[in-house]
Amino acid sequence: MKIRDILNNTRTISCEFFPPRTAEGIPGVYRAVERLKPFKPDFVSVTYGAGGSTRAFTEEITAGLKEQHQLEVMAHLTCVAQTKDELNQVLDRLDRSGIDNVIALRGDPPQGQEGFVPVEGGFQHAVDLIKHIRENFGFGVAAACYPEGHTESPDLATDLKHTRLKVEQGADFLITQLFYDNSDFFKLMDRARKAGIDVPIIPGVLPILSTGQIRRFTAMCGAKLPPKLDQQLEKYSDDDNAVRELGVEYATQQVRELWDNGVPGVHFYVLNRSYSVSKILENLAIPGH
Ligand SMILES: Cc1cc2nc3c(=O)[nH]c(=O)nc-3n(C[C@H](O)[C@H](O)[C@H](O)COP(=O)(O)OP(=O)(O)OC[C@H]3O[C@@H](n4cnc5c(N)ncnc54)[C@H](O)[C@@H]3O)c2cc1C
Repeated sequence: MKIRDILNNTRTISCEFFPPRTAEGIPGVYRAVERLKPFKPDFVSVTYGAGGSTRAFTEEITAGLKEQHQLEVMAHLTCVAQTKDELNQVLDRLDRSGIDNVIALRGDPPQGQEGFVPVEGGFQHAVDLIKHIRENFGFGVAAACYPEGHTESPDLATDLKHTRLKVEQGADFLITQLFYDNSDFFKLMDRARKAGIDVPIIPGVLPILSTGQIRRFTAMCGAKLPPKLDQQLEKYSDDDNAVRELGVEYATQQVRELWDNGVPGVHFYVLNRSYSVSKILENLAIPGH
């Protein structure tokens, strides 16, 4: 089923997992999914690695979650290090596995490389991949957007212009980068609606798991940590359990406010660690979940 059709009828809860480095890690991903299954996610997604064997795991796990777990799934796909022909082969395999949804992304430049350089015969921007998928395949297509702007964008207006292009070329809905100040999301909604972007925009929420990790993630993706939250993280920086509980409490409040303001869904970055998301969903007790 296309996620756009689910979004027509339901406010969604979705969960994102990542593929392991080696095959030995695959059961761990399934265990994380199983622990969240009782909360009835409307769809789950599996990210796409920078290269190598994890990419095959993305396909394998996405297909497995659909086939064996009867979950609606979305495969992530990036333009990194792949020609159009290679991307076509991935898309053909996803199609043959019965997968109906992909999120089409550009991907990040490899570490140490400044700026994204497509391979010869590859795509420069996510919008090119979205257009290609729309013209050649039948998938439902999602795309990424950025409440605080993408790190390479000179300003929010330019960032939004590029987001709008992705919708014009066929993205059915958008999922945001993580953020910790809901006002950034509400401002994005405002800008998007004024710019004529009328597809669902689903906030992406990452419950904080450790101080070091969240500092690294936010530095990488250009999201800010509100000063009060940052101070609390500093206070408990040596105590991962305390930080995890703080993360649960913060995300519970964050999602409650988003939900109360009518968001079309919430997408949890689970990072294959189900504890926090299960606690948050228990706290929220959203009907149907
Ligand atoms: C929900 C979500 C899921 C993600 N999943 C993955 C994943 O599975 N694997 C992974 O590697 N990464 C993933 N990412 C990270 C993503 O790949 C990076 O954020 C990447 O740097 C940008 O991807 P994009 O699809 O937004 O690219 P784009 O939309 O191509 O944007 C990248 C930059 O180029 C600019 N730009 C876009 N279009 C144009 C244009 N036509 N002309 C000029 N400039 C333009 C944009 O403003 C932006 O600054 C995910 C991000 C999100 C929010």
